[in-house]
Amino acid sequence: MHLRWEDYPGISYYKDRGFESIELESPSIRNVSEEVENLGEDEYIIIKGCDFLSESPRKFMKRGPELKIPRKVDSPWRYFPKEFKNLTADSHKRGYSWRNKRSNTTIVVPFSSLFDGLKLYVSQRNEIKAKLYHDHDQKVISGKVKSSLKNYSYTVFENVIQKDGKNFFADWLSYNCSCTCEGNLFNRFTSFKYVNPPHFVCKHGFALYEAARKSEEKIYPLFPRPRKKFIECDENLTRVFVKRRYNERLGIGQRNRLDGACLGLLNEKFLQGLSFWQEDGILKYGSLAQD
Ligand SMILES: [Zn+2]
Repeated sequence: MHLRWEDYPGISYYKDRGFESIELESPSIRNVSEEVENLGEDEYIIIKGCDFLSESPRKFMKRGPELKIPRKVDSPWRYFPKEFKNLTADSHKRGYSWRNKRSNTTIVVPFSSLFDGLKLYVSQRNEIKAKLYHDHDQKVISGKVKSSLKNYSYTVFENVIQKDGKNFFADWLSYNCSCTCEGNLFNRFTSFKYVNPPHFVCKHGFALYEAARKSEEKIYPLFPRPRKKFIECDENLTRVFVKRRYNERLGIGQRNRLDGACLGLLNEKFLQGLSFWQEDGILKYGSLAQD
């Protein structure tokens, strides 16, 4: 059983246990990500007067900038790592995206889906059953992924990106993900675009895709794995609070933005935060990340 982001304790938990507070007054995003990277196990952070965290978290998820993979690219496995390396600590990205050529829809992968999807996959890996079938000229995965809290499952459909022998199909750009979870529906219905709103890949989409890859070796790795240092930074973000009227934990948009900044910081230090090439798998959250 893994903790969902919402399940992490609030600030009083840390206060009661004598954790040290680090107060940051109007910090830059770089300051914050440096403090997050070096946060001790018995410390937490309170941020005051911070412009880039004061906007609505949902707004950032709707409109926030993302790392865009150009549509002319037909070799994403070469392109993705290069793009990630260009991130710096001053980046304010919500994730990465590309364009589905067939439906003309933008596919957005928030950084949080990489973490939460990985934890979900690891905790349910023997239970997720991915079905693969052909639909016209596309291969589709469908399956159910259990909700981490409630007693029911979400249904997910995804188009597959396949390998063909040593070559990859270039039509990786036809990937799509649909899921019945609340987060995904919310993102779509509140989009600022009414025609062809962007599709977000949620943690259930990530988990199902990885489950399908386990049973079918021809499926192309589409989601990079966060490495150990990056996972630690994301965990440290659960101990970051923003001072408004009360000390609040980071909302989903703020978390994604700071994940982007931490990833940039790790890249600047040549500690690659994401890896595409652990083909064998994910597989053990925790040891996943032997760097
Ligand atoms: Zn979902």
